[in-house]
Amino acid sequence: MAFDYDLFVIGAGSGGLAASKRAASYGARVAIVEADLVGGTCAIRGCIPKKLMVYASEFSSLYQDAVGYGWSEVETHLNWQKLLTAVDQEVHRLSQVHTQALQAAGVELIHGYARFLDAHTLEVGEQKVTAEKILIAVGGEAFRPPIAGIEHAVTSRDMFHLPQQPRHLAIMGGGYIGVEFACIMHGFGTQVTQIIRGDQFLRGFDQDISTAVESGMIHHGIRVLQSTIVTKIEPVPAGLKLTLSGNYEVPLTVDTVLSAVGRTPNLQKLCLDRAGVEIGRGPSSFAYASDSAIAVNEYSQTTQPNIFAVGDCTDRLNLTPVALAEGRAFADTEFGHQRRAISHEYVPTAIFSQPEAATIGWTEAAAREQLGDSTVKCYRTQFRPLFHSLSGREEKAMIKLVVDDDSDRILGAHMVGAHAAEIMQGMAIAINMGATKKDFDRTLGIHPSVAEGFVTLR
Ligand code: FAD
Repeated sequence: MAFDYDLFVIGAGSGGLAASKRAASYGARVAIVEADLVGGTCAIRGCIPKKLMVYASEFSSLYQDAVGYGWSEVETHLNWQKLLTAVDQEVHRLSQVHTQALQAAGVELIHGYARFLDAHTLEVGEQKVTAEKILIAVGGEAFRPPIAGIEHAVTSRDMFHLPQQPRHLAIMGGGYIGVEFACIMHGFGTQVTQIIRGDQFLRGFDQDISTAVESGMIHHGIRVLQSTIVTKIEPVPAGLKLTLSGNYEVPLTVDTVLSAVGRTPNLQKLCLDRAGVEIGRGPSSFAYASDSAIAVNEYSQTTQPNIFAVGDCTDRLNLTPVALAEGRAFADTEFGHQRRAISHEYVPTAIFSQPEAATIGWTEAAAREQLGDSTVKCYRTQFRPLFHSLSGREEKAMIKLVVDDDSDRILGAHMVGAHAAEIMQGMAIAINMGATKKDFDRTLGIHPSVAEGFVTLR
């Protein structure tokens, strides 16, 4: 049967863009469909606009720190509209860049929402398209918990378009997105209350990261309500009243509520059943399967052999560089005759909180559980960075290595402190190459720096 395309990609986000351009570079006839702005979550409503907001929010503490260095105090004021307009313009510019890159690569761009009709056919509005292979790269969306009045809450998507800067923001959720927005908005001068179900932030990260970030945030003035859930949100004349249950039961009134309790793949309207693509725990050979995501094997192949899926809709490791790498590995395998899978181990990642945190590899808890206490050795230091000796702030940096004591291999590196993400990227190369503690020990530090802590740990 003759198909319209060799490859049809659903979703022009990180994974879809990377896969479509790589497949086209091998001579495949490729089309990509996008229902929103080209660029996906990362460029349009995730990493990029968020990081721009992080930069913007850091100025307030820098202005204060400068006073300790002899600068006079300045009267500061954030123009919310001006910031949001600048961020929005940059997002649109990036979307244009991605669109032009598709054109240059020879990938046909179709605007609209795609749904499966069968394993080789999709409908996009009135149009029907057929393809030999189909890649699903539809990403995810914020999950809204089923509580009364949740429609009054905003999600991370809305945070870049709020008409006014919130005066008092409540954030539901202690994952990295909730934590990052708490710090961003606190930096802008918004009063922030973060409500978390458990007794600690950032589940899944090393305990020392969670503790250091949380205590830093509390020290800055963010109020954290642990072991507490929101059971109801209702509009009142003063704003939104939150009914709470758990450790804190006194109702809270704020003007904005951000729901950041998790994300779920965008699969509801895709009609996957018509294509024979399974969600959740598929056959046991399907290495990656979570309850609400597309089940795939290590080559991103779904239960339907001609259909593949990459990125957040497979819920493997929901990060942009991972989606990009999965997309490229898929295209190399299917169109470039280079069968390859990517490793989801030793992927570095950061939390752009204030203080910032970054990590790679195993947490101490995971290492102890898998290898046993006697095999795992941890090295850790916490200190006040030189910068804060004059700023006067009680800010601490934390550096930690998790080591396999038998082989001396470094299993995990964790850091909290300024520029942690930039520092961890270099660590990631060494750790991916199998660096040992001895390799770190014989590396000389850069003095004076925070990062030298990684090579002076004893
Ligand atoms: P996406 O980038 O989400 O792209 C999917 C695209 O598919 C979307 O454009 C969507 O409109 C489109 N689509 C969906 N269904 C259809 C359909 N049926 N038809 C047509 N089009 C469709 N990751 C990091 O690495 N670093 C960060 O700092 C970071 N910060 C983040 C901050 C926030 C607030 C959020 C929400 C996420 C962040 N992430 C970060 C995660 C990162 O954005 C995602 O992991 C990444 O974008 C996933 O790429 P993807 O290709 O799977 O999906």
